[in-house]
Amino acid sequence: MRQAVILAGGRGTRLQERLAGRPKPMVDVDGQPLLGRQLRELGANGFTDIVILVSHAAAQIEAFCTKAEFRDLAISLIHDDVPQGTAGALLSAYDRLARQFLVVYGDTLFGIDVERFWRVHQETEADVSLFLHPNDHPFDSDLVEIDGTGRVLGFHHPPHGVLGSFPNLVNAAMYIVRRESIAFWGTAATPSDIARNLFPEMILRGARLQGYVSFEYIKDIGTPERLDKATRHLREGVVDRARRDRPQKAVFFDRDGTINELAGYITRPEDVALTDGVGEALRLLNDAEYRIAVVTNQPALARGDVSNEGMRRIHNRMQWLIGRVGAFVDGIFICPHHPDGGFDGEIPQLKILCDCRKPGTALIERAAVELNVDIENSWLIGDSTSDILAATRSGLRSILVKTGEGGGDRKYAARPDFVKRNAAAAVRFILYEYMPLLAAMTPILDSVSGGDVIIFDGVSRRHRSILASAIHHLLVEGHLEAHVMPLDSFARDNDESRPEPNGTLSLLDRLTPWLCSDRAICVATEPCNWSRQRPASWTEVMSLGSESILIWDEDAAFLRDIGLARRCVQIVNVASAISAVRVAPRVLAAPVGGDVFLDLAIVLECWS
Ligand SMILES: [Zn+2]
Repeated sequence: MRQAVILAGGRGTRLQERLAGRPKPMVDVDGQPLLGRQLRELGANGFTDIVILVSHAAAQIEAFCTKAEFRDLAISLIHDDVPQGTAGALLSAYDRLARQFLVVYGDTLFGIDVERFWRVHQETEADVSLFLHPNDHPFDSDLVEIDGTGRVLGFHHPPHGVLGSFPNLVNAAMYIVRRESIAFWGTAATPSDIARNLFPEMILRGARLQGYVSFEYIKDIGTPERLDKATRHLREGVVDRARRDRPQKAVFFDRDGTINELAGYITRPEDVALTDGVGEALRLLNDAEYRIAVVTNQPALARGDVSNEGMRRIHNRMQWLIGRVGAFVDGIFICPHHPDGGFDGEIPQLKILCDCRKPGTALIERAAVELNVDIENSWLIGDSTSDILAATRSGLRSILVKTGEGGGDRKYAARPDFVKRNAAAAVRFILYEYMPLLAAMTPILDSVSGGDVIIFDGVSRRHRSILASAIHHLLVEGHLEAHVMPLDSFARDNDESRPEPNGTLSLLDRLTPWLCSDRAICVATEPCNWSRQRPASWTEVMSLGSESILIWDEDAAFLRDIGLARRCVQIVNVASAISAVRVAPRVLAAPVGGDVFLDLAIVLECWS
C-alpha cells in the first residue's frame, strides 16, 4: 500500500479572491476542488494511504474526504495549530509516515505517471527523489544541479550569473522520501522548509538526493494568474496530452552546426553560440507541445579533449542561452564514443565501435524511449549526412540545414526529406508549413493509383523537391508504394564499377522499360552533383513494379519526349494553379484535361 503525504497547510493569501471561504487545497479548478483532482490522480496511481497535513480549515477538508468517491482511499488528517513550515509539518507527523512515501504539495495541479516515478526511485535506492523539469524562465528560478548520474549536487538561487553555470532544472515540488533519511531533523524549533532547509542539510550530510527529470505536467496554482493558466491547460487538453503514457511528438536536434554554430570541436562553455533564431524557434516548439531531444556525437569525450564535467558545463551554457528567450530542451543525449584509437590522452573504454554514434540509431532510440516519442509524427533536424541517415533509419522525417556542415560532409548516402536554411527555418516549416502543404496536396490522392507517374510542372526546382517529399509522405501514409525519382542521380549497374556520366538522361533510359511497358525494374542510382568526394558506398536502389508510383522530381519535358503508352501521368500544374488562386483564393480546381490542380493558396502562403 503506497503512501502519499499532501502538504495542505498553506493559507492561500495570494489566492484569497478565488477561495470564497475555502481552504487553498479546495480551490476550484475548472469546476472541481483541486484536492479532489489530486486524490483521484493518486488513487489511479496506486497510492491509497493518504496523509493530509493541515493547519487550518481542517473541518472542510475532512468533510470533503468522506465523500463516497474516495471510499477506496484510507485518508487521515493530521492537524497542526502551530505553523512550522513544510519540513516541520512533515517531521511532526514522523510516526505516521511509511518507510517510503510520496510528498505532494496541496497547491499543485499534476498529471504524472507517479507509478513510474516510484519505480525509478526504487531502482536508484536514493534517500530522496525529486521530480525536476526545465522551465521557461530559468534565469529567475531556483535551479537544481545534478551530475551525469542524476545525483543532486546542490540548489542554486538567482541570480545565476551571466555565463549560466547550472542546467535548466527546476524543483517541481513532488518528492519520494525514505523516512529514515530525514529522522535526524527532529522537531525544529523554528519553521523550516523542505527544499530550502531540509534538502541542503541532507546533501551536506552525504544523503543521496536523486533528480527525476520529466516533461509531464505539474504546476503550482498559487496565484490567480497561475490558476487561470492551469485551468486553461486543463480545458485545452494540455495536461492530458503531456501524460507520459501518451505518445509524444518530438523534434530531435543535432547539436554542433544545428543548434550551435560549428566552431571546431567545442571544448569550452564560452565557445557555445546559438545559430540564428534557434532559441525562439525552440520556444515555438515548446508552446506547440513538441518534446525536444538533442542527440549529439561527442567524440571529444573519447579523445579526452573534454571531460564529462566539461561537457556538462557546455550543455549548461547551451541551455542557459536557450532559456534566455524562454525556451528549453527536454533532454540531451550524448554518444561519447569514437571507433578509431591511437591518440594521446584518449579514453580507451570509449574508443569502441558503438551503435549509438550517428548514423547509428541507438541514441535516437534511447531518447525515444525516455520521452515516449511517436516516431511517425516526429522529426530530426541536422546538418550532416550522418544525422539524415540516422533519421531515415529511425523512421523520422528529416530536415537538412545549410548551417554547419550543410550536408557537405558527404560521408553517407542520405537523402533529406527537406532542406532549410537553418534550424529556425526548419522549425517554422514543421510548425506552419508542412501540415498546410499536406492538406493542399491531399486532393491529388483521389486521382492517383498504383503505376502512375506524378510530375510537378511550372515550379522551381527547390519547390518541386518540397512538393515531391510531401506527396511521398502522403502516399506512404496511405499505404501506397511510392518513390521519389532522385533528381540528382546517375543510374548505375550493380556490376559496373563506374557510374555513367550522362546523368538523368541515362537514368531515364534505364526507366523506359517500366515507363513504357509493365516490366518491373530495379535501378541502382548514385547522386551525381554531390559526387566529387563521394565514397563508393553511395548507392540507392529503387525497385519499380506494376503498383509503384513514381514521383518525378524533374521537368515534365523529359517524360513528354518518350512515349508514355502505359502510364497515367498526373501533371500537377503549379503555374496554372497559381493564377487560379490569385483570382479566387483557396478554390480547389477540379482536374481539368488530365491535369490535377492543387489548392495552392496555402502552399503559396507558406512560401511567401
Ligand atoms: Zn556511442
